[in-house]
Amino acid sequence: TLASMSDTLFERIINREVPADIVHETETTIAFRDINPRATTHVLVVPKTRYRNVAELAAADPGLLADVVNTAAKVAELEGVAEAGYRLTFNTGEDAGQTVFHVHGHLLGGSSLGPEAR
Ligand code: 5GP
Repeated sequence: TLASMSDTLFERIINREVPADIVHETETTIAFRDINPRATTHVLVVPKTRYRNVAELAAADPGLLADVVNTAAKVAELEGVAEAGYRLTFNTGEDAGQTVFHVHGHLLGGSSLGPEAR
């Protein structure tokens, strides 16, 4: 089907209309590699239902936010960075550099993370 004009890139990835390197998927979440990785492990963790940002997600569906965090922890294990440590960040709004307005956590790890790995 034609993508709706209101679809973001991430709905297209969820619907398999745009290819992505998917590393893990659950009933409610999907995790795939960032196309422009800023750390050895850089995976985007996305709820399948769209909210603009993490605060809207938390307010509307805290269980789904927990699913996103649990998927990130699972991916950290799969990537072998759970023990050494990782970062999970949610850019919110333009000043934070948010470009895709479908909430996503950046899971960053696999090397010692400097401030540039956001
Ligand atoms: P934001 O800046 O909104 O927090 O993060 C959006 C992220 O999506 C960026 O890190 C960017 O590299 C990534 N990205 C942009 N286009 C694509 C794409 O087509 N595929 C994948 N896998 N990641 C993308």
